[in-house]
Amino acid sequence: MEYEPVIGLEIHAQLLTQSKIFCACSTLFGGEPNTLTCPVCTGLPGTLPVLNRTVVEYTLRAALATHCRIASLSQFARKNYFYPDLPKGYQISQYELPLATDGHVIIQSEGEQKRIGLIRIHMEEDAGKLVHDLSSERGSHSYVDFNRTGVPLIEIVSAPEISSPEEASTYLRKLRAILMFLDICDGNMEEGSFRCDANISLRPKGVRTLGVKAELKNMNSFRNVQRALDFEIRRQTALLDQGEKVTQETRLWDAAKGITSSMRGKEEAHDYRYFPDPDLVPLVIDPRWVEEIRSRLPELPESKKERFLREYGIPEYDAEVLTTSKPLAKYYEACLHDYPKPKIVSNWIMSELLRELKKDEREIEECPVPAGHLAELLTLIEDGTISGKIAKSVFEEMYRSGKRAEEIIQATGWVQVSDATALEKIVAEVLAANGKEVDAYRKGKEKLFGFFVGQVMKATHGKANPQMANEILKKKLGK
Ligand SMILES: [Zn+2]
Repeated sequence: MEYEPVIGLEIHAQLLTQSKIFCACSTLFGGEPNTLTCPVCTGLPGTLPVLNRTVVEYTLRAALATHCRIASLSQFARKNYFYPDLPKGYQISQYELPLATDGHVIIQSEGEQKRIGLIRIHMEEDAGKLVHDLSSERGSHSYVDFNRTGVPLIEIVSAPEISSPEEASTYLRKLRAILMFLDICDGNMEEGSFRCDANISLRPKGVRTLGVKAELKNMNSFRNVQRALDFEIRRQTALLDQGEKVTQETRLWDAAKGITSSMRGKEEAHDYRYFPDPDLVPLVIDPRWVEEIRSRLPELPESKKERFLREYGIPEYDAEVLTTSKPLAKYYEACLHDYPKPKIVSNWIMSELLRELKKDEREIEECPVPAGHLAELLTLIEDGTISGKIAKSVFEEMYRSGKRAEEIIQATGWVQVSDATALEKIVAEVLAANGKEVDAYRKGKEKLFGFFVGQVMKATHGKANPQMANEILKKKLGK
């Protein structure tokens, strides 16, 4: 039997506000434990939450950028559960009346555009963090750090319209790019400011009804999301093929072992006893404010891509890749500013630059070659100082050392030999040393031409200007 996966994703994105969602404490990451707290975010009796206006504004930005419907009236609700990192015994979230619903994100899947629906976007507060110390002599200790308590999050829930692990990854990248273009989230998956849970079920191909789903947690990178979904598809397929049933449960991804394992079943699922938070009045949004925010939205990945196609005439694939992140798009345009040949610049970024970054698992922001330096290198190819082939080695050295092209070329003597007299001498030497081949060539074995070019390149350690070498060879060989 052939099955089709049905995947939905739940994203928690931390908003880049300076202060927490219901108090004035700082949201800084990495502070001394419990220094960024106050009676409100530690849930002391008698305190009252006050909603941070910027949190609402950032959420509206996300909602508008993903074509959501904005609720003129929404409400905060208490999600009740007990856990040591949750001082109030409940989390303030939104439940029945979220701020935004019915949006969508467009992704490229197998060369086609696909629309992934968003069910809702709502605001909530983050919980604290438990630190487990297993080294202590008296057995294991756990500590609690409330610095993260009350840091603002948005939860973005997609419709179950994602059909493969690859699509899930593409959707995540697109959504992350949108939030980063909006300057409302730093997108850092390792530090947990962009987290993803997934639910996945299988159904026989062509069938409309949904199968029983498993919920997956603990995936902290794009690669792990894809790996966990791949594993789940294999696990559920094996169960269904054996005539067994998939159980509805929450499963944890173990990246080291490459498997998911059951965390809790349906019967152990929490009953959160949601109810409207009596400390917070319903949130009424002025439509004029929404329009003002809409008018100030920055250029988003889709429109940037359209503009790159229109202004620079590069292929759609290039435009798609270059607009996957705001810093990458910025790098491209900065390079174009100094070397205005769109396709050449895009080729260099997409092949050489992104390859080096991928090898080091670095982001473009950490690239040791500034855009201006890449432009300088391209100019040196253009004016004939170095060949395109040598330029690749120069680029690798620039990436490794952070030095500029000019400096590397001087130090290594990689300057292209474009001196006609010098080249003529080398060509003469090559022909003299290969008399047999010269005879054969002159008798009609023309494919030997490539051999002579190769010999000239070898003699000059790849530095001969290829066009000049070709011309001189043709002249000397009498063709
Ligand atoms: Zn506080």
